[in-house]
Amino acid sequence: MTLLEVRDLTKHFPITKWGRNVGAVRAVDGVSFTVPRGRTVGLVGESGSGKSTTARLVLRLLRPTSGGLRFDGTDLIAKGPRELKPLRRRMQIVFQDPFAALNPRMRIVDAVGEPLEVHGLATGRRKRNRVGELLEHVGLPPGDMDKYPHQFSGGQAQRIGIARALATGPDLIVCDEAVSAVDVSVQAQVLNLLKRLQRELGLAYLFIAHDLNVVRYVSDEICVMYLGEIVERGEAETVFSAPAHPYTEALLAAVPSPDPAKARSHARVIAPGDPPSPRRPPPGCRFHTRCPHAFDRCRTERPVLQEVSPGHHAACHLRDPLGGSPRGREEAS
Ligand code: SF4
Repeated sequence: MTLLEVRDLTKHFPITKWGRNVGAVRAVDGVSFTVPRGRTVGLVGESGSGKSTTARLVLRLLRPTSGGLRFDGTDLIAKGPRELKPLRRRMQIVFQDPFAALNPRMRIVDAVGEPLEVHGLATGRRKRNRVGELLEHVGLPPGDMDKYPHQFSGGQAQRIGIARALATGPDLIVCDEAVSAVDVSVQAQVLNLLKRLQRELGLAYLFIAHDLNVVRYVSDEICVMYLGEIVERGEAETVFSAPAHPYTEALLAAVPSPDPAKARSHARVIAPGDPPSPRRPPPGCRFHTRCPHAFDRCRTERPVLQEVSPGHHAACHLRDPLGGSPRGREEAS
């Protein structure tokens, strides 16, 4: 059952010079996906692909330029700040840097308990009891609630961030690079904690990360983003075992492999260069400036996301009947 529905969402940040509008950064440009209840959707892509902006749009921390956004059937775009407040209880975020997300002068009981007070759920003794339960839930002793953030390790601080996100009893948690800032040795513990909480509480996650191994471990479905667009979407195992877009292939090729033969065969498809600026995305397929298979059509015509196998979508001319024509393949070679 769909919990979050994102339809054709865009966010263009205007660029002004001397008070005049001279262009826009097209951070998110027509993104569509759904997050089913109790499932994890991974959002991957290089830095600047629009993942974090998408996360902020989904939580309505940013106002979209256009597009549709529904949470549990409710239209989020139409809601004002007052109407959004009760919905925000049900949508929380875990940030990349747990220390930056915690006020260094606030004890943990107040940091984790803050959302309880903001939403009028508990104060005083009831708040302390609830914070104790939440800390236990994330594997920390309730006695830690009177400590300050600097008294914890990075992994423990991220557990506190998760406890804070759980405080209001959400249905959806956006994990924005939630394990990128913790040691590799601690990453697995945090990921396993997130999986356990999902099983126990029926949570849905929108899991944003640049590390494909991490995304593969937690995700049921994956959306691959490039320069503000989703270029591939499908079940995690399908996308990883049979990528349908050259950009996904390039991302997978960049993942270190313990198998030397595999590493050699993948090395040929790594995308050269940096992504172009979202201020001036290339015409046609946005990936054509880096794609080893680009041909004439790619430089002028924008490929649309279409189904390449049941539930598996890709936006690449090589994947549609025209693009797969002998001429296209000749030009690609
Ligand atoms: Fe490469 Fe063309 Fe496919 Fe874009 S549409 S990914 S440039 S082959």
